[in-house]
Amino acid sequence: MDKFEFMRKELDELKEKGTYNTIRVLESAQGPWVVINGRKMLNLCANNYLGLITNEEVKSAAIEGVKNFGVGAGAVRTIAGTLTLHEELEKKLAEFKHAEAVILLQSGILANIATIPLVVGEGDLIFSDELNHASIIDGCRLSKATIIRYKHLDMADLKEKLEDYKDYNVRKLIVTDGVFSMDGDIAPLPDIVELGEKYGAITMVDDAHGEGVLGDHGRGIVDYFHLEGKIDIDVGTLSKAFGVIGGYVAGNNTLIEYMKQRARPFLFSTPLSPADTSALIKVVEILSKDDSLVKKLWENGNYIKEQFKSYGFNIGHSQTPITPVIIGEEKTAMEFSKMLFEEGVFAQGIVYPTVPKGTARIRVMVSAAHTKDDLDFGIKKFVEIGRKLGVVK
Ligand SMILES: *Cc1c(COP(=O)(O)O)cnc(C)c1O
Repeated sequence: MDKFEFMRKELDELKEKGTYNTIRVLESAQGPWVVINGRKMLNLCANNYLGLITNEEVKSAAIEGVKNFGVGAGAVRTIAGTLTLHEELEKKLAEFKHAEAVILLQSGILANIATIPLVVGEGDLIFSDELNHASIIDGCRLSKATIIRYKHLDMADLKEKLEDYKDYNVRKLIVTDGVFSMDGDIAPLPDIVELGEKYGAITMVDDAHGEGVLGDHGRGIVDYFHLEGKIDIDVGTLSKAFGVIGGYVAGNNTLIEYMKQRARPFLFSTPLSPADTSALIKVVEILSKDDSLVKKLWENGNYIKEQFKSYGFNIGHSQTPITPVIIGEEKTAMEFSKMLFEEGVFAQGIVYPTVPKGTARIRVMVSAAHTKDDLDFGIKKFVEIGRKLGVVK
């Protein structure tokens, strides 16, 4: 008897339906151009918004971290795994975010999973945007609180739901992505803060795609809306614009002190390596003193959007450099992505269930490391293929 027959069956089904995920392997660093199957490709897929993955200063800092501290932390933070590097990074991040305190975790997903079950539990209520990231959803499920989904960005709907439960004398949490990664739209945080205050709910934002992108020097969505100290919990990742790996939570001293006593991924899992941590200290230093990379990212994002629009592509309503090129039909979008790949452009096709039916798209992710020539090459290929497939005239 094959005990894994049930998995084999589902895998076969995925392949039949054409939704089986073939994982691309990069044979080079994650730069504006990458090598795949021995071929140089324009990379329009990565979350490496600022090009920091291959930044020379950041690479040197990682090597310094290894020279001084070796390659691993050797224990969980609460036993013997807290290095001066970890504390320095937490302090620097708190300064950068204008927050009282920061706790470092091993990834963005773990930051959500660590936090939500400490804030709410069984019998409590979570008000969650229907398009929130999977890691928020997992954190919510682990908490055992009741999850109430409100319509995407719809503050009237959120208000109605808060009103429905206003007499429940339990803890309440409103949680949202800051920037939604499939459309590039932004959560209306000022309204969320106002509703949180009115209904006595804790407010939490996951700023994975706003970090290094939004606000002054890329300080993120809280800075962008001038809500320092008003959003209760600000979760971030260090693996997207920051270019390395890791996650963190910025908040008030009580929350962070409590998390250092109780958050399970903090207590029961070894922290970031010296190389990662040292690299990240350098990233925060670079962003704190220089906003040219953030400016360049927006310049590139605005340029590619204008160009796509001028050729008649539907690019949705992104408020960030994330640029969805909406094709509509799933099959056409997959074909589009495949043809781009054949022409040397690596851009991800995204279909149902990741996005609603009929809105299949190619998601274009530019970075500060792309030159105008790089972008022009990509645009030219989009237009050629778009015309061939009848997506644009
Ligand atoms: C990518 C992402 C995460 C996960 O971050 P990792 O550091 O890669 O674990 C969490 N939340 C959101 C909204 C994301 O986009």
